[in-house]
Amino acid sequence: MSDFDIIVVGGGHAGCEAAAAAARLGARTLLVTHRLDTIGEMSCNPAIGGLGKGHLVREIDALDGLMGRAADRAGIQFRLLNRSKGPAVRGPRAQADRVLYRRAVFELMSEQGNLEMRAGEAVDLALDNSGRVCGVTLADGSTLSCGAAVLTTGTFLRGVIHLGPDQIPAGRMGEAPSLGLSETFKRAGFNLGRMKTGTPPRLDGRSIDFDALAVQPGDDKPSFFSSLTDHVTAAQMPCHITRTTAATHDLLRQNIDHSPLYSGQIESRGPRYCPSIEDKVMRFPERDQHQIFLEPEGIDDPTVYPNGISTSLPEAVQALMISTIPGLEKARIVQPGYAIEYDHIDPRELHPSLETRKIPGLFLAGQINGTTGYEEAAAQGLVAGLNGALLAAGGAPFLIDRTEGYVGVMIDDLVTQGISEPYRMFTSRAEYRLRLRADNADLRLTGLGLALGCIGPARARHFDQRKEALAAASRLLESVQATPNELARFDIAVRQDGKSRNVHALLVYPEITLDRLSAIWPALKEIDPAIAEQLETDAQYAPYLARQEADIEAFRRDESLALPPDLDYGLIGSLSTELREKLTATRPVTLGAAARIQGITPAALVALLRFVRGKKTSAPRKAS
Ligand code: FAD
Repeated sequence: MSDFDIIVVGGGHAGCEAAAAAARLGARTLLVTHRLDTIGEMSCNPAIGGLGKGHLVREIDALDGLMGRAADRAGIQFRLLNRSKGPAVRGPRAQADRVLYRRAVFELMSEQGNLEMRAGEAVDLALDNSGRVCGVTLADGSTLSCGAAVLTTGTFLRGVIHLGPDQIPAGRMGEAPSLGLSETFKRAGFNLGRMKTGTPPRLDGRSIDFDALAVQPGDDKPSFFSSLTDHVTAAQMPCHITRTTAATHDLLRQNIDHSPLYSGQIESRGPRYCPSIEDKVMRFPERDQHQIFLEPEGIDDPTVYPNGISTSLPEAVQALMISTIPGLEKARIVQPGYAIEYDHIDPRELHPSLETRKIPGLFLAGQINGTTGYEEAAAQGLVAGLNGALLAAGGAPFLIDRTEGYVGVMIDDLVTQGISEPYRMFTSRAEYRLRLRADNADLRLTGLGLALGCIGPARARHFDQRKEALAAASRLLESVQATPNELARFDIAVRQDGKSRNVHALLVYPEITLDRLSAIWPALKEIDPAIAEQLETDAQYAPYLARQEADIEAFRRDESLALPPDLDYGLIGSLSTELREKLTATRPVTLGAAARIQGITPAALVALLRFVRGKKTSAPRKAS
């Protein structure tokens, strides 16, 4: 018997979710990470969620993951972004106390059965005669055997920090890089790429003149990530807002040659939507200011994270830059900003289960797959952990498709399209976003999790109660009705067609709320506010979702046509060489996935369909 069913390497956001998910499925799980005290560390900004990202956290929570619960426990400011827009694109976000967040993740991990955590560095993988992973080798020379392994090495793979002209091998400031595993990947023939990301200098809040700055408070009524959270636990703190000035921009332009980004020292791509301040100033010369959010790092920590000015300029230039910013004239830097370059794997080397195609039994999740962000990492970790455990137990993979969750959208994008820059989640990436709302993540996914067995008893109970309450309230909404004339008496105008409407039908109109309708039917007042809000949102979206059903059915038809994993694309005569190469490199699992590969034409799909129909196809890999 193996030492462990599954070994997870890395205690970041991907690794923690992977280990906890595998353990929830009953797998004997080991998490190996450089240092136990950095488990759950937020390498960059002290915040969780946001647009698209908040959806991912709710989905992780719906499958009983850790991130939502940890962020709620550590949240020092909660805001629902895009509140003025429709519920589909609203994103919950929380500023988090770094120490409390780490502590919450560690506590949740410690409470999880079947899960052991050890400090150590993984330097290599052990493979059996068939080339399948059978163990992880640590820096002390020991090899621990396992049925499956999940690597979640983040920015550590051959990481190099850039700070002005200095280049320091590191995985994060003050932490050594991971070198051995890069060699393992190269030896196995993986296609490695290089990306970069950056972080701003941290400031001592005691040296900031907050009185001169605009305050950004949190929401009066917090929107939690976890459906299990019902109250705020940490003290709440405001953020402040400042901006760069013409003097900042002049200084940056004068010193641009000292930026590793512009001197040619850094050649790899960074996240387009998170550019460094020097990049913003050079790319948008017409702008005379850029907003900076001053985010507290914690309740008992005076450190402030100036969101919006990530930089890799020399420390002396960073100090001058800070002094040109209103409120920061006298601010002291406690840690300089820096950029980091690291290796990543081409995610087209992965199955949708996040198992690598080159080494069976090896799963990858997080920044190593070319994504950026804690939430993206955590969501992949969850999927990789579940699938690692399922594989080790001989089960079929658990896949979430594009109609079921943002997690599915992200993984499908990664494995079918690959990446040319760090991948970050946006609501615009989801074609079925009216259905994939943050508010209904549990209704979309918790049932799947229950069937799989990864949902703990507390959430299972809570989910049952919520479903029952929704069903009872829904029956009430169906049971009462009024004619247009009766409604008019309460100032509710509908078409005078003589037809009675029930509450469901009336809630389609955004200006008609349950609160208004309770003037007609007082029983509606008895509905729990959270249930009422869900019913209102569902009712508003119902007509659009009904229209989307046909698209979803077409999607599912294409997804149900499996492409054989060993399909020889060279035999499909009518495909161009370029398309044959693309399909061979990506190996789409279904016809639908093939259609989403860039450059695949309708004619190519027809050729593929004809060829496959002439062969025997197997069912897609999905857990029932
Ligand atoms: P990480 O959180 O990096 O965790 C990796 C873990 O693996 C660590 O615990 C490490 O100790 C461990 N590990 C690595 N190798 C080994 C090994 N061989 N053996 C044992 N343990 C190992 N994201 C954004 O969205 N926006 C940003 O602006 C942004 N800026 C960033 C700036 C910097 C300087 C850094 C470092 C990261 C930034 N990020 C940013 C990225 C964000 O931190 C990551 O996306 C996220 O942390 C990825 O999570 P992960 O679990 O994949 O990896």
